[in-house]
Amino acid sequence: MERNAIRLVLAAVTAVFVLGAQATGGGQTPSSIPLRAQPPLSVRLYVMDCGTLHIADMGRFQLKKEEVATTDLSVACFLVVHPKGTLIWDTGAVPDAAWKPTGSPVTQHVVLPDSQQRDITMVKSLKGQLAELGYSPSDITYLALSHYHYDHTANANEFAGATWLVREVERDAMFAEKAPGTTQPSTYSDLRHSKTVILKDDEHDVFGDGTVVIKSAPGHTPGHQILYLKLAKTGGVVLSGDLYHYPEERALDRVPTFEFNPEQTRATRVTIDAFLKQTGAQLWIQHDFNGNAKLKKSPNFYE
Ligand SMILES: [Zn+2]
Repeated sequence: MERNAIRLVLAAVTAVFVLGAQATGGGQTPSSIPLRAQPPLSVRLYVMDCGTLHIADMGRFQLKKEEVATTDLSVACFLVVHPKGTLIWDTGAVPDAAWKPTGSPVTQHVVLPDSQQRDITMVKSLKGQLAELGYSPSDITYLALSHYHYDHTANANEFAGATWLVREVERDAMFAEKAPGTTQPSTYSDLRHSKTVILKDDEHDVFGDGTVVIKSAPGHTPGHQILYLKLAKTGGVVLSGDLYHYPEERALDRVPTFEFNPEQTRATRVTIDAFLKQTGAQLWIQHDFNGNAKLKKSPNFYE
């Protein structure tokens, strides 16, 4: 509440300043000047473009090229805006600081600590997409990562001022002397000193009203998690993390070769299927290129 009150005061001050500037000078309309974002009355979900990941080796997913509609994977970041605060869910594959948006697609080559290499095509920066909505990373209340792989943590350090919602096994692996090979520890090292809430229960109700719930979904990594949103108009939506990457993994019952625990992944998939059935929620596979292409992108939103 206090934070919101401060934000409202700041917004009011900004508005007065802007109106003042308006009166003395420019011909711009007030709506063309970005104000700080105001809390909405109901939960909003913004889908942000954090790039396209090109996959050369389909064997890692126990799939063949001919079995999938496309080998490309979308990289999505999500901003949840609740009347009581904001949550960023996953932070991309390429740090904003590593490249400059030109308006045209830019392909970045990433070398992981275990010397695996990836190409990722970027168009927009995460910060730029947040700014378009009136937010800077320091405005964000909560950070949650579906898991520690490099393609979800790229801009995590930017959100070190937020409260980090993480499971202990996941955090321990991230800060182990030798972090897993598919991590990029330099992208999340600042989280070590972030205000942190260790999630212990299967479900964590972020804002206390059942609309934004982080659910334990282990297997892909030890503390992998998914996000359930109960939206007023859209209904239930589950953001998959990497429970699946390709929709064909689900249809053909394949489990990638690089799971932390494939048996646990299978068990989690059964549990989440039951949850989807029980709630009637849609499953959005975050990396599903064709599925993601159909979604409204920020600054449009789901509510
Ligand atoms: Zn991923």
